[in-house]
Amino acid sequence: MKNINPSEISSILRKKLENFNLEENTKEILNIGNVIEVRDGIVRVYGLNDVFYGEILQFNNNIYGIVLNIEEDSIISALFENINNVKEGDKVKKTNKFLTINVGKSMLGRIVNTLGKPIDGKGKLEGDLFEIPLEREAPGVIYRQPVYEPFYTGIKFIDSMIPIGKGQRELIIGDRQTGKTTIAIDTIINQKQFYNTNNPVYCIYVSIGQKNSSLANVIKILEENDALKYTIIVSSNSSETPLMQVFAPFTGTSIGEYFRDIGKHVLIIYDDLSKHAVSYREISLLLKRPPGREAYPGDVFFLHSRLLERSAKIIENDNIFSKMNGFPKSIKKYIKSGGSLTALPIIETKEGDISSYIPTNVISITDGQIFLEKDLFNSGVRPAINDSISVSRVGGAAQIYSMKKVSGTLKLNQAQYKELEAFSSFGSDLDEKTEKMIKKGKLNVELLKQDANNPYKISYQIAVIYLCSQDIIIPLNKIKKFEKEYLKFLKKEKNELLKKIDNGFWNEEIINDLNKVIKKVLKSV
Ligand code: ATP
Ligand code: MG
Repeated sequence: MKNINPSEISSILRKKLENFNLEENTKEILNIGNVIEVRDGIVRVYGLNDVFYGEILQFNNNIYGIVLNIEEDSIISALFENINNVKEGDKVKKTNKFLTINVGKSMLGRIVNTLGKPIDGKGKLEGDLFEIPLEREAPGVIYRQPVYEPFYTGIKFIDSMIPIGKGQRELIIGDRQTGKTTIAIDTIINQKQFYNTNNPVYCIYVSIGQKNSSLANVIKILEENDALKYTIIVSSNSSETPLMQVFAPFTGTSIGEYFRDIGKHVLIIYDDLSKHAVSYREISLLLKRPPGREAYPGDVFFLHSRLLERSAKIIENDNIFSKMNGFPKSIKKYIKSGGSLTALPIIETKEGDISSYIPTNVISITDGQIFLEKDLFNSGVRPAINDSISVSRVGGAAQIYSMKKVSGTLKLNQAQYKELEAFSSFGSDLDEKTEKMIKKGKLNVELLKQDANNPYKISYQIAVIYLCSQDIIIPLNKIKKFEKEYLKFLKKEKNELLKKIDNGFWNEEIINDLNKVIKKVLKSV
């Protein structure tokens, strides 16, 4: 050591550093950090600069995470998958990107995960794919048009009394096992009639936090009804990380927006947002965010509202439309106006309590709710819709004339019947008029019952709802058989008439025709 000359050292160092490009070299270093703590898929990373909230980070073995907290000297990220494969000391790389997925028409008929990757074993997505962000600002008011086009669920009760329009958000809410998923699935099946028309409706079913067996059952029903070909399933089941579950509805919405923005009509189902809120809570707890406005439960409102705000019916004006911001450049040339995204979020209640935090949030964000009741379901009234607290705040404007005409007073009549029935249970003597109303109400309840996975075309629905407005003398136990024969007869003999009703016509001639059919069929049952 003695014989080293300090001036020699400085000259060697100077020589070594001569070609050192400070900017180039530090850039590489600042883009790479180290894992200093891992716990339940939550990772603390040290050494990354200029990270932004929501940025995607790349860990070893192509594992990805997202930045959820930025602290003074470290950041906290949550992992999407393979949470056990990240260790302390691993390197972490910045990607400078928000979360995106690749979307395209070839997604129809496929099952994808939250990251947009197919998981059905049918291979890669083919054809043109566009990279779009998972979170996009909802379209502003000048790009939206009011709800005016009907959206058919195929369920008599809903299309007649709680009508939905394209672009609307209608909540399906009820206790567990009350037929919530069935309503959503039947609505998907009902879109089959539009598949080969100029106006197909594509469907997206987002499964959040469900058991694999429940989703398998949904897929089976869709396959059996040949409805998978126009449907995309986004799956994030209970076995996946809470992060995958939290982002799944956003993935579904982004796919829906792609189809909406190329001028198509889209239905999206979130099954269900209660489990979504639970996953979100899990993340909040793991991140040790204190409860309050900026964390669960306060910010779950923001989470659900920014999700549901993206459902809309877009105006039909190509000029303004092309200026609409937030479009990824890659799909701009395919953009067409007039598409829509209609949402049916599902919420599970406990003991019918709709006044707890998450249900009230989603009720206030949506344009109405379909409330399913356990008691009705168990007494055999299916779909088990409670007509007094189920509403659609905007869909009435979208109902076609014929349906509006026949269903006009049905809701009121049924409400009156319910009251009279409750009153009559005290055993008092009833006058003839009251007795008649109760009888009629009971018949209508039967007429409004509908089997699972059996959606009706709109003309069939109108024909049945017309029965609800007429005095039909028939015993209660024969009404279902009558309905079946009546529809069979119409289908076989009265195709022209059904077509007219389908197109919204309603006049004396149609009424006379139907009355004749009713008389005839009544004789045969
Ligand atoms: P969960 O809370 O478990 O998600 P859910 O509220 O989604 O349940 P579904 O799974 O749709 O309820 O329905 C529960 C059961 O009731 C199913 O077996 C379904 O087939 C049956 N069901 C639902 N609707 C009807 C109907 N209209 N007619 C006959 N059976 C029905
Ligand atoms: Mg369900």
